[in-house]
Amino acid sequence: MSLGPLTVDLPSRIWRSGGMVIFWKAAELPRRCVRCNAPTENTLRRRVSWHHPGLYLLLVNFVIYIVAALAARKTADVLVPICDRHQRRRRQALVVGWLVGLSGLAACGAGLGLDSVPVALLGLYAVCGATVHAFVGSRLFTVVHVDEHLVRLRGVDPAWLRDVPPWDIDPEVMPPAES
Ligand SMILES: [Zn+2]
Repeated sequence: MSLGPLTVDLPSRIWRSGGMVIFWKAAELPRRCVRCNAPTENTLRRRVSWHHPGLYLLLVNFVIYIVAALAARKTADVLVPICDRHQRRRRQALVVGWLVGLSGLAACGAGLGLDSVPVALLGLYAVCGATVHAFVGSRLFTVVHVDEHLVRLRGVDPAWLRDVPPWDIDPEVMPPAES
């Protein structure tokens, strides 16, 4: 949905709606860890992007999908508050994911070279497991929607979300994305 420039004076720039946090692209998120709600001064800069899910139908041709997705996607740079403990866990998940994933790739290659199906399968299994481990362990939130003005995320800590005011903006002015 395309909205014109905002002309209303908003009392808040961050809201919650259901399990979602909705905020202006320029809003500064509360300095509490999005994973555990602990106070923190650490932030991670994340570029979030979204495009209409219908574009996934174009995946039958990967090149066309990439071109269309890059043209249609909406992005926002978000400073995500995260505590030391969760930042460390996130880094560990990524490092372990890379190490196990690369070892799995090597095992896969060795298995194919040695004509050993069990070794190749073990390597493939390690690559898949490492990818899932890195993805789950490093995930901060799920992007629900990004448009010209607003970002909508799901999956932040429920206590973090409870301290944010509920969505109270006239839907005529800024309708929440369907969830
Ligand atoms: Zn934390």
